[in-house]
Amino acid sequence: MKKHYLFFTGLLALAVSCSQGPSGSMSDSDLNIERRVDSVLAKMTLEEKVGQMNQISTGGAATGPVLGNNNDMTDLRAGKIGSILNLVGAERTREAQEIAVNETRMGIPLIFGLDVIHGYRTIFPTPLGESASWDTVGIKESARIAAIEASAQGVHWTFAPMVDISRDPRWGRIMEGAGEDPFLGSMIARARVEGFQGKSLTDNNTIVACAKHYAAYGAAEGGRDYNTVDISMRTLNDIYLPPFHAAVEAGVGTFMNSFNEIAGIPSTGNEYLLRDKLKGEWGFKGFVVSDWNSIGELVNHGVAADEEEAAEIAIKAGSDMDMVSGSYLENLPRLVKDGVVDEKLIDDAVRRILRIKFQLGLFDDPYKYCSVERENELLLHPSHREHARDIARKSIVLLKNEGQVLPVSKKTRTLAVIGPLADSKKDLLCTWTAKGQPDEAVSLLDGIKKKVDDGTRILYEKGCDITGDSKAGFASALSAARRADIVILAVGEAGDMSGEAHSRAYIGIPGVQPDLIKEIQKTGKPVVVVLMNGRPVTFEWTAKNMPAILETWFLGTEGGDAIADVLFGDYNPSGKLPVSIPVTVGQIPVYYNHKNTGRPFEKGEFFTSRYLDIPNEPLYPFGYGLSYTTFKYSDISLNKTKIAFSEPLIVKVKVTNTGEYDGEEVVQLYTRDMVASVTRPVKELKGFKKVMIEKGETAEISFELTSDDLRFYNDKMDFVAEPGDFKVFVGTSSDNVKEASFKLIENGSKD
Ligand code: BGC
Repeated sequence: MKKHYLFFTGLLALAVSCSQGPSGSMSDSDLNIERRVDSVLAKMTLEEKVGQMNQISTGGAATGPVLGNNNDMTDLRAGKIGSILNLVGAERTREAQEIAVNETRMGIPLIFGLDVIHGYRTIFPTPLGESASWDTVGIKESARIAAIEASAQGVHWTFAPMVDISRDPRWGRIMEGAGEDPFLGSMIARARVEGFQGKSLTDNNTIVACAKHYAAYGAAEGGRDYNTVDISMRTLNDIYLPPFHAAVEAGVGTFMNSFNEIAGIPSTGNEYLLRDKLKGEWGFKGFVVSDWNSIGELVNHGVAADEEEAAEIAIKAGSDMDMVSGSYLENLPRLVKDGVVDEKLIDDAVRRILRIKFQLGLFDDPYKYCSVERENELLLHPSHREHARDIARKSIVLLKNEGQVLPVSKKTRTLAVIGPLADSKKDLLCTWTAKGQPDEAVSLLDGIKKKVDDGTRILYEKGCDITGDSKAGFASALSAARRADIVILAVGEAGDMSGEAHSRAYIGIPGVQPDLIKEIQKTGKPVVVVLMNGRPVTFEWTAKNMPAILETWFLGTEGGDAIADVLFGDYNPSGKLPVSIPVTVGQIPVYYNHKNTGRPFEKGEFFTSRYLDIPNEPLYPFGYGLSYTTFKYSDISLNKTKIAFSEPLIVKVKVTNTGEYDGEEVVQLYTRDMVASVTRPVKELKGFKKVMIEKGETAEISFELTSDDLRFYNDKMDFVAEPGDFKVFVGTSSDNVKEASFKLIENGSKD
């Protein structure tokens, strides 16, 4: 017999929203959910509750040890599993869901999770690459489409967005985030959460988002994945936490712990992060899932003697669901019976998990995501590809265009397309590709072929492999270059050189590719270097010696078409770096929002903060990116030079398109707090607008700031703005701005 929620008969299934009122004010639908959650919880045994807190993995995509309770439907039937990750497909998820609903005593539906990181079947640029678009509307749309496709294959929950700030390109996972800046990172976190979760989680094409990895995972020492993090509370709160807070404000349903420790406390057992900050100060009502075996790893960290103690630490700290370690299942019932863990903690965790399942509407229709028709209709839908192409071209950053090598004429007689990445489809997808298929991607070579005139001859040569030391292909590559009018040279990392557990100590362009670049340069032909990479790579020689460079990251399914759009001028590049590109590894960490120091660098002065052998500045700074046109910024105007805490500051600037093409510009606003109770960064992004300005036209761009935007953690660790002098900067990148000054004064003060 179908045990389909007998205990709910009489209760109406109402549409609910995922949003939580900031101060605990609850809508009727929220209240209804709370009542339904309580009613389920009241009927559950302790073992069943702990079962809800247990997540297993089935299928591929293991990112750690595959542990004991993997793939075991016996546990599912016994009500010992609340969630499965890596199980997809309308039919396969239906089968498992039927067991949960029909064969367990409580009939509580499963929640299926998957890493839907930058697309599901239609793959968008890597999150870092997409962040270079600074287009929050487009970014939100990518997440929306990913949710539409993933939900059509039974997925309810994505382990995304990754909102980790990182200042270290050695860290392979920098490709999964939005770069180095907390403000841009927060805007993008919000966009991605809103995209995945849509208007309402009850819709059948929305999925629950997960802000990860909480917290400061991107600050791993030496950029080595999983490594120790030791940062101050101020840096944690000012730099690393804002995107997580933004995700909560956007209504994110779940959080994931990070693997790392912070100052001696592993995040999975960090009460300050989970109970004080997230569930306390920020009022988060969703649930926290551990990372893969991160509860078990508390033993390796050396804060738990065994898995029993690990389970105790994790639940007390506020980790609600155990991803694959099995330690909750194994130990929590006993820990509660022995009086070590209060059952109220278990109830709180289960309440949070059930709440999300209710919000998803799973209790009302556990199979709403299991539709083969939707699956067939929606994956890789033409409209999804269209968006993929658009957001991909918006993500490309033009780093250099000396002598206007770009755009290339479609009528070029002979075009050499060279490099190990020129005809690769697989690399374009990078890592975390969910169900993306390389053979559905458009390579750069394909994109170019589709674009040029019939009369154009294309000479393709691979030249060399991405890694390895063979130069056997150089001769034919050089011969092609010599015969061509222009060379497109696609070089960079392999798609799988960044991502989890893919840290690099040398982040240059790998293998013999740098030699290939040098040889091609010697031919004297105009060359466009098309860089592909997950993380920022170093390429100082190339930057100095090659006339045109496009940073194209890994752009996903439509990568080749998108790059061709830019190469041939059908799209005028508008991307801006979301992260600094270092000159060399020795500069790392190098980021724009650094402090001034007591001895800021001064030319000609020896005892100032600098290197003997390299500049302090990165090769290309945060916010940098050129266009085929040029933009002229005229001076900033402020509505006032003194503002009280209660007043807005209006900052206006005129931007004129002085070049030959229509183009989009990302107008960036930064501030600097000149004197404060603690040292403050030399610049902090506080606003940006991406605007289309036609050639010859002038746009007036206006920003509004209030004292809330000027807050930081002061000497007492209070989050406040302090009165005093500020600078405001507006410009085209973090190092190319116009500035003005203003004073923040107390309300009612005459100063
Ligand atoms: C990663 C997470 C991911 C999880 C599940 C872990 O190794 O750190 O980001 O969501 O695996 O695949």
